[in-house]
Amino acid sequence: KPLVAIVGRPNVGKSTLFNRLVGGQVAIVEDIPGVTRDRLYRDSEWRGYEFTLVDTGGITEGPGGLEAAVRRQAEQAVNEADVVLFLVDAREGLTANDLAVAEILRRSGRPVILVANKVENFTDLSSLADFYQLGLGDPLPISAAHGMNVGDLLDRVVELLPRRVEGEGRGGIRVAIVGRPNVGKSSLVNRLLGEERVIVSEIPGTTRDAVDTHFKKNDKEYILIDTAGIRRKARITTSTERYSVQRAFRAVDRADVVLVVLDATEGVTNQDKRIAGYSHEKGKASIIIVNKWDLIPKDDKTLERYRKAVLYELAFMDYAPVLFVSALTGQRIHQVLPLVDEVAMEAKRRVPTSTLNTVVQESVFLTPPPAKIYYATQVGIQPPTVVFFTSDPEAIPLSYRRYLENQLRRAFGFKGTPLRLIFRESK
Ligand code: GDP
Repeated sequence: KPLVAIVGRPNVGKSTLFNRLVGGQVAIVEDIPGVTRDRLYRDSEWRGYEFTLVDTGGITEGPGGLEAAVRRQAEQAVNEADVVLFLVDAREGLTANDLAVAEILRRSGRPVILVANKVENFTDLSSLADFYQLGLGDPLPISAAHGMNVGDLLDRVVELLPRRVEGEGRGGIRVAIVGRPNVGKSSLVNRLLGEERVIVSEIPGTTRDAVDTHFKKNDKEYILIDTAGIRRKARITTSTERYSVQRAFRAVDRADVVLVVLDATEGVTNQDKRIAGYSHEKGKASIIIVNKWDLIPKDDKTLERYRKAVLYELAFMDYAPVLFVSALTGQRIHQVLPLVDEVAMEAKRRVPTSTLNTVVQESVFLTPPPAKIYYATQVGIQPPTVVFFTSDPEAIPLSYRRYLENQLRRAFGFKGTPLRLIFRESK
């Protein structure tokens, strides 16, 4: 079984996380820094993937003190583990020791997930900005003690596990097709796969009963996530409805691009808003697909009016392109995949710092903010994430954040992808 190791300084919450991840079987949580204990190994499983979790624990004050011990622990972890979880403490912030450990992990070339523990407020992650200095990408915020986001963490872990199942780990844009029952998801899947000559193969997904579909079109590869969940027909009761929403959420978690499918005859319902809202919160690139367009009586203004109405209801997602299709007649189905390619690329766009700052300086000059904005830099993709250094993050109101976002979109596009703007204090 593949090995997954947790490393980090004493007291960042390694044991708590370990216990969470193995389902609370063992409970050795020590609050005293530097407790000696043996390494803990436990078998664990997530969505049908099995792995062994190692808590490298055993930090002792050997030669070189605690710092050196933590570094030795990291070295040991990279020697034996397939995936390393590097746990940092969001409450304490970045330490010199974190930087030293990150260096070891980066040099090893092992897959590393940077995990910021003890996060209390998941809507304001600005305190995590420092951790980007570790050069390990986006920190994944969790609360091991409360079990918050631990599912996301496990999703990331299984994505990085070495693939043994034939056909897995194949490339391609991962596409989730989500929406309420009967909006036409399976009809859409059949259209996409049935169109012209595509090479299709089924891949066992990460859920025991999930099946992903891998296919190639015009020499480009795609993976449709959880096609089993889409095709399975169930009687719609309240509980299956709830289940189907959960299933949609899990598909979104694993996607690069989310197709939010609506039924043109029904418009935007509350459940559509929930699903679209989840995709937005998760920072996924999205396309709104209005299906059954053949059933709508139209004149030359219907489409524009409908588009406005949809974007009014899904205002938080006003960056998403809206495509009007009919899975029944095939109308505009050929536009779906090119649009998927486009938004997938936009979500990975990196803007050079100098170009970015030219636009930011111009924007600040045109409409001055209530606090000084010194400098901006893009720190991540999927979604593109920009950190602004300002004299007072609190003083930048939501309206100004929206203004900056619009300016960035005007300059760089970012079609179909959410943007994350983080404001950080700087002197
Ligand atoms: P799912 O539950 O979202 O997978 O929806 P289905 O693909 O099973 O479609 C539900 C119903 O809507 C079926 O009776 C389809 O034939 C019908 N349907 C799907 N797409 C369209 C469309 O574009 N136009 C029309 N008129 N009917 C459609």
